[in-house]
Amino acid sequence: MRHYPIFLDLQDQPVLVVGGGEVAARKAAMLARAGASVSIAAPRLAPELSTAVADGRYRHVADHYAPQLLAGQRLVIAATDDRSVNARVAADAEQRGVLVNVVDQPALCRFIVPSIVDRSPILVAISSGGAAPVLARLIRERLESLLEPSVGALARFAERWRSRIREALPDVRRRRAFLESLLRGHAAWLIRHGHEAQADRLLETRLKESSGNGSSNDETGSVALVGAGAGDVSLLTLAALRHLQDADVVLFDRLVSPDILDLIRRDARRIDVGKRVGSRLHSQDSISQRLVREAQAGNRVVRLKGGDPLVFGRGGEEIDALREAGIAFAVVPGVTAANACAAHAGIPLTHRGVARAVHLFTAQADAPGGPRYRSPTPLDDPETTLVAYMGVSRLPSLRDSLLDAGRDPDTPVALVENGGRPEQRVIVTDIAALADAATKHAVSAPALAIVGKVAAMALDNHWYGAPPIDARSVRCRVQSPIAMSQAQAA
Ligand code: SAH
Repeated sequence: MRHYPIFLDLQDQPVLVVGGGEVAARKAAMLARAGASVSIAAPRLAPELSTAVADGRYRHVADHYAPQLLAGQRLVIAATDDRSVNARVAADAEQRGVLVNVVDQPALCRFIVPSIVDRSPILVAISSGGAAPVLARLIRERLESLLEPSVGALARFAERWRSRIREALPDVRRRRAFLESLLRGHAAWLIRHGHEAQADRLLETRLKESSGNGSSNDETGSVALVGAGAGDVSLLTLAALRHLQDADVVLFDRLVSPDILDLIRRDARRIDVGKRVGSRLHSQDSISQRLVREAQAGNRVVRLKGGDPLVFGRGGEEIDALREAGIAFAVVPGVTAANACAAHAGIPLTHRGVARAVHLFTAQADAPGGPRYRSPTPLDDPETTLVAYMGVSRLPSLRDSLLDAGRDPDTPVALVENGGRPEQRVIVTDIAALADAATKHAVSAPALAIVGKVAAMALDNHWYGAPPIDARSVRCRVQSPIAMSQAQAA
């Protein structure tokens, strides 16, 4: 170990920064964040330093460095671009026993400054001992994404309860076990999702049980509705990943890929509630009731859904059931199919001058006997991009509704099958040829129809998976939709 790691308490302690440039400004700002009282010695000050001096946050004590400026300082940072000044600061500080850091000159440093991940009061410091600062920074970035932002709130919660817990559980071993289960368990979940009052109540109860003054066991679990993203595993959010690794029970759908299921905590129970067409096995109602029951049994439950849980995911009904049963819940958004398909097919859902709105709808609602759109509808606005979910078996009726609504039969349509997955296919057609093209190319679920001028851009913007298939009835490749709209505007 080349350096001895410490965390310094610099509250109200005098520290000196020699230098007035941008680097000096960064160093001064970090020292000030730790509560130090910062003095600056430099002939010229960078704008943020002069502002801080004018505001009284730092003191500008000298234009030029002199050894007597070190008197009474806890530490000094030399950040000038004059190496001889830096060397003098280092030598003088060593002689006086003041801790010194010279920026970018490790040989002159008595202390070095680590990369940090700040989740105050939790602070992680990373150092490569000066050997590979860039590597230290990369490690920091990984920790940044791993350590959830709420870990600070959790530490403050533990701090708030610390003396109560110490009183109630004088035995060190029992106390440690209690704290561990607290920080891993349901109370931590509640804190992470902002249910502080509920976490306090839970802790109160648990503390009573553990200290033997009662034996109520009314701990309820929680449910997170988690979007897995549409497409492959890389579209999972960090929040979703954390939930999968925390869960006791996971209820998942057909549209969730096996790669994502692999990320679930090993000893969690997995329940497949995929509702296959015609199967009466898992009605929405029975799924909602199952969520409630599992949570009431004290489990941390994850309801994992393809795409986003609140876009044609029936998450709203599940929330209703949870709310009525008084179960704590959280919702983690996911990349919905419209976004995943558009991105991977190279289709801008809105495009300046071409499409100014996006309308997500389900082709199912257009089924004969189903609730029909009433006029005026977004279906007839040529500058609205339409995205139809769940439409594979309904393409003829989708075509008819669009034509009824007055959309031009030549309007481009992109059928995106398995969007965002390696086996993705994109078929560019138009309203008139929509149903025939789907039959000819045997489009199957899951697939999405994107309707509007922007859909044809898939032909030019291909970047992912197999090249798009051009199945328009009139193939006019001379003018791209952008060129057309520009020509119209002119
Ligand atoms: N909650 C999901 C949608 C569920 S409805 C979401 O936000 O994406 C199921 C429909 O979504 C499918 O019928 C299909 O139209 C669409 N879909 C989901 N994943 C898809 C994918 N990878 N490619 C194309 N369409 C997809």
